[in-house]
Amino acid sequence: MKITEAKFVMSNTDYLRCPAADKPEYAFIGRSNVGKSSLINMLVNNKNLAKTSQTPGKTQVINHFIINQKWYLVDLPGYGFAKVSKADRADWEVMIADYLVNRSNLQCVFVLIDVRHEPQRIDLEFLQWLGEKDIPFELVFTKSDKVKPAEAQRNVEKFEETMLQTWESMPSAYITSSEKGIGRVEILEEIEFLNQDFQKS
Ligand code: GDP
Repeated sequence: MKITEAKFVMSNTDYLRCPAADKPEYAFIGRSNVGKSSLINMLVNNKNLAKTSQTPGKTQVINHFIINQKWYLVDLPGYGFAKVSKADRADWEVMIADYLVNRSNLQCVFVLIDVRHEPQRIDLEFLQWLGEKDIPFELVFTKSDKVKPAEAQRNVEKFEETMLQTWESMPSAYITSSEKGIGRVEILEEIEFLNQDFQKS
């Protein structure tokens, strides 16, 4: 898919105020600092669309972007900030859960995982929750340029092995690097494919 236009639409904290659910939508989420903004900017070829390195404690919002006037890309606030208060964490949980459970045009949640690390409990728990709620998701391993290809592969396999202790099958997974543009074509192809699915439904 060629990206011809990527525009910011709105930020809000309530899924009920999101744009009309008449176009297919893809949400990106992951642990803070996982490389989410960099990945979004890499996908749409715009270094400044999503704000990189957001500081913890900043207002947490759901950001909608419209791509090619055809589909929504949603930047969700990350989880796992060490210094977030209990109250802020609870607000995040309600906002994100309401959005993910109720957003009818949500085709897929891309969950970002830092490929450099061993499987992290916080990621596995989030995936478990998505599964319980029947929310479709795929995995995006980030920052692959920071490790040797064999190590990236090993960590992905380890992640899959860990997931398969509780899951029957694995979702699609992409190994990416925003720095090097790796994985861009594959993710955009998947979105294009899912866009067609949305038109049929
Ligand atoms: P976010 O908090 O998840 O939105 O993460 P950011 O996109 O702001 O990235 C966090 C840090 O990781 C920044 O310093 C980025 O430059 C760096 N980063 C993100 N993606 C990559 C990548 O693919 N390769 C490398 N080497 N660094 C990355």
